[in-house]
Amino acid sequence: MCGIVGYVGSKQAYPILMKGLYRLEYRGYDSAGIALVDGDLKLYKTKGKVSDLEHFVHDKDVTGTIGIAHTRWATHGEPNNINAHPHYSQTHNLALIHNGIIENYGPIKEELQKRGYKFISDTDTEVIIHLIEDIKVNEKVTLDEAVRIALNQIIGAYAIVVISKEDPDMLVAARKGSPLVVGIGKNEFFIASDASPIVEYTQDVVYLNDEEIVTVRRGHKIKIKTITNKDKTPYIQKLELNLSALEKGGFEHFMLKEIFEQSRSIQDSMRGRLNAKEGTVKLGGILDYEQKMANAKRIIIVACGTSWHAGLVGEYLFEDLARIPVEVEYASEFRYRNPVINEDDIVIAISQSGETADTLAAIEMAKMKGATIIGICNVVGSSIPRATHAGSYTHAGPEIGVASTKAFTAQVTILTLMALRIAQMKGTIEKSRFHRLLNELEAIPEKVKETLAVDKQVKELARIFTYTRNFLYLGRGYNFPVALEGALKLKEISYIHAEGYPAAEMKHGPIALIDREMPVVVIATNKGTYDKVLSNIQEVKARKGKIIAIVTKGDKDVKKLADYIIEVPETEEMLVPLLATIPLQLLSYHIAVMRDCNVDQPRNLAKSVTVE
Ligand code: GLU
Repeated sequence: MCGIVGYVGSKQAYPILMKGLYRLEYRGYDSAGIALVDGDLKLYKTKGKVSDLEHFVHDKDVTGTIGIAHTRWATHGEPNNINAHPHYSQTHNLALIHNGIIENYGPIKEELQKRGYKFISDTDTEVIIHLIEDIKVNEKVTLDEAVRIALNQIIGAYAIVVISKEDPDMLVAARKGSPLVVGIGKNEFFIASDASPIVEYTQDVVYLNDEEIVTVRRGHKIKIKTITNKDKTPYIQKLELNLSALEKGGFEHFMLKEIFEQSRSIQDSMRGRLNAKEGTVKLGGILDYEQKMANAKRIIIVACGTSWHAGLVGEYLFEDLARIPVEVEYASEFRYRNPVINEDDIVIAISQSGETADTLAAIEMAKMKGATIIGICNVVGSSIPRATHAGSYTHAGPEIGVASTKAFTAQVTILTLMALRIAQMKGTIEKSRFHRLLNELEAIPEKVKETLAVDKQVKELARIFTYTRNFLYLGRGYNFPVALEGALKLKEISYIHAEGYPAAEMKHGPIALIDREMPVVVIATNKGTYDKVLSNIQEVKARKGKIIAIVTKGDKDVKKLADYIIEVPETEEMLVPLLATIPLQLLSYHIAVMRDCNVDQPRNLAKSVTVE
């Protein structure tokens, strides 16, 4: 995962690079490092966070108008000072930062070692810089050519930036599988994993494609070529990113800010797409593929983590409304099976970052087998939207907290719109129901606001359960994925063991866990299965478990049984996930804060999982 950033221009590079690293820290925070050229090639790195790096260099010379910097999420070699990036070449004339995994680093390392190269780190990354230098010196080629030749020997995923003491006006960068954006300013260039370190300096960006190498040189135009040595004309795009979206805006954590943004972000996901008055749903990005979706015999949804939970809601929606059979697959499992994929299958790939490596690989496989791929992603210009045939952006805005919140509700919103549109085309939904759902969907942002008012109450609850060691989450139907998502949030940021289960499955196993120590969160809003859920609650009570119930406003029966209740506004059953998820996000947030956990950067996790 890792965040990488580079700068060349007339300003001092250090403050730009550090600010960039802070913005990219969501991508990894095992170690951080920086290299600057100012006569010498200076390299500082340390285990820990960007703030540790800042502390480490406070008495060091950080002058220079060209530099590269890195924040790591370790894949090869433990997070320590030595494995931190940048990595020097053997002569210390070059340094490199890398995001990704080099699969064939073993044989390349062996070969280089035979020829006298000394490796000091345990990373896969170090082979790249030695290989580049080896080629540069032995074949007497320029740095960008040496990078090109080296990358032809490398198997795996990378976004790299190389800096050279001998050529202090130039950075060479390349990507395959991991993201890279170049910002073009006035006599200056920025390179980064995403646009967040660039946005306040320039709006002109180029998103690099796989197997492209970019050279940026002071006073020259940006140059792009492929690793097969074909020149490419840079496609310069305007950034649509708001600086305020990258700041906490008065909230203590990004996660809390993003939870509270959900009324707006759901609204943004629907903006220009849903018109309840006219009875229309229009998703511009899939217009050319709607008919194909309507004709599909089957939909396969591929995703990972929270997006997979959104996919499960999607399964219920498409089956319920559009009567198309749906399978929801973990991208990582799907791609390594030998799945049956037909040409009339639609594959929907969901990913917040649009860079999820397993989902990307699943897309490539399904594409090769002839399926049509529709993407649902949040980050504009990311890899998945470019690999799919068509798709819809969620437009939730940058999500910086590592635990996904507003991206989830935005994904569910898009899936709801898609299912409604396809159902309308197929005629599988009655007109009155269609209109009712559209109206209700339009009212959801207001209801989200209402739901957020439970924050105080949830905070109280969090106090009671701060030191609990296990949690069970139960839900049925549309609320089953909500239960899974609630449990995942708690695990991710508070490190409490939690499991989500379909409520009725409890008696087939998890019921054995229930005693007076076990809180059970039951999402009990369902109309259709209300009585059944009531029985499930009775079963927990009979074993002295503590019930925290999420209920519809005005509920009477669950209220009588539950130890604690949280009310959400009444809505259509299929839209409940958009509301019921919110108290669960808040619960995990407050518990994590009370346990003194790092909410925005939970241990061992990173935001955009660009490794397989
Ligand atoms: N594989 C490199 C390392 O472990 C980069 C990690 C990454 O991009 O996640 O240092």
